Amino acid sequence: PKNRINVLLLEGVHPKAIELMKYEGYNVEVYPAGLDEDELVKKIKNVSILGIRSKTQVTKKVLDNAKRLISIGAFCIGTNQIDLEECLKKGIAVFNAPFSNTRSVVEIAIAEIIVLMRKLFDRSAAMHEGQWDKSAKGSFEIRGKSLGIIGYGNIGAQLSVLAESLGLNVLYYDVEEKLALGNATKCDSLEDLLKRSDIVSLHVDGRKENQDIIGANEFNLMKDGVIFINLSRGHVVDLQALKANVESGKVAGCAVDVFPEEPKSNDEEFMSELRGLPNTILTPHIGGSTMEAQENIAAFVPNKIMDYINTGGTTNSVNFPNLQLPKLQNAHRLIHIHHNMPGILAKINNVLADHAINIVGQYLKTNETIGYVITDIDKEYDNELIRELRQIEHTIKFRVLY
Ligand code: NAD
Repeated sequence: PKNRINVLLLEGVHPKAIELMKYEGYNVEVYPAGLDEDELVKKIKNVSILGIRSKTQVTKKVLDNAKRLISIGAFCIGTNQIDLEECLKKGIAVFNAPFSNTRSVVEIAIAEIIVLMRKLFDRSAAMHEGQWDKSAKGSFEIRGKSLGIIGYGNIGAQLSVLAESLGLNVLYYDVEEKLALGNATKCDSLEDLLKRSDIVSLHVDGRKENQDIIGANEFNLMKDGVIFINLSRGHVVDLQALKANVESGKVAGCAVDVFPEEPKSNDEEFMSELRGLPNTILTPHIGGSTMEAQENIAAFVPNKIMDYINTGGTTNSVNFPNLQLPKLQNAHRLIHIHHNMPGILAKINNVLADHAINIVGQYLKTNETIGYVITDIDKEYDNELIRELRQIEHTIKFRVLY
């Protein structure tokens, strides 16, 4: 029964998420703040679903104490705060909200391109100091300029579409093969993009290898007077090199929203070599922070988790093999998670055959660590069957739906 599913929601997850999970019949407990490791270790024992945002660290120690945990929802984009591999080994499916704030980030990028090309912030600051400096020098329209997008994923591709509608010529570079949207032009190398762009905007993911992908060499390749924007992750840009290029005038303006080290709370001072530079917009990692995005996230994540609990579907799971499943009709659904070893599917099917059970449908997907098998069967099963399935060697988790 669903009221035996205990949900623990931390870090002030949006009320809509609470509402959705209560409506589903779950037993929901809410905390406005995060919990540290020891507190979470104590709390996690009877929790089936854990909801967190970016601060809560879900470590191996926490997971070792989680006896009933089925799924974790990260009510944000990033999942670095969760030990995903350990979750896999324990058969815990993790979901996040990969594109709930895409539009918010794109809108801020568009705004910053215009603001930087017109030096609006510096001019406004000067006006507040009483300086009237009416001149067109160094101010440009965005129409007809080349926007180079590095990383053509959810955000990069969406930016491409909106930027084009404002008259920018879009170039993009991605390490993966990506479909060019609208009239965008694919660049075969980062170097090619950097040489051709009036504006460079970074939208790569935060993988380790992306450390300092934009440094002194890359700034050298850019056009004189380039506008540079980073709304992706802090470690991808060498900030000393950025600073030097803003000071030299090579970079005419920049906007940075993400930093290698960010203050842990609003009380901590923001320290950075970028403070005080001309035509430099600094924002506190708010690219995706809008009311709309928060609400989108609050709907997206619970729906993924409820789908996983109710059907076994794992579309968009961060760590599980992604399986999209048909609705069940007149069948029972067996969900089997096991360490990825050869021969497990055969063992499952042997048990079913021994009990003369007919398989209506079967779906298997594996990754390096686990195998995920869904089997729909059409007969009444007995406890002996369930016991045997659970006993198959290398089984991590097993549950029956309907
Ligand atoms: P995504 O995974 O959909 O897209 C990332 C793209 O970058 C992928 O297509 C990938 O192939 C490509 N890529 C990775 N490394 C590359 C490289 N070295 N060169 C070229 N291409 C590379 O991610 P997304 O949802 O579009 O998000 C993009 C970035 O924005 C992420 O780093 C994300 O964390 C960040 N983000 C920031 C905020 C914010 O508040 N500022 C909000 C949301 C997302």
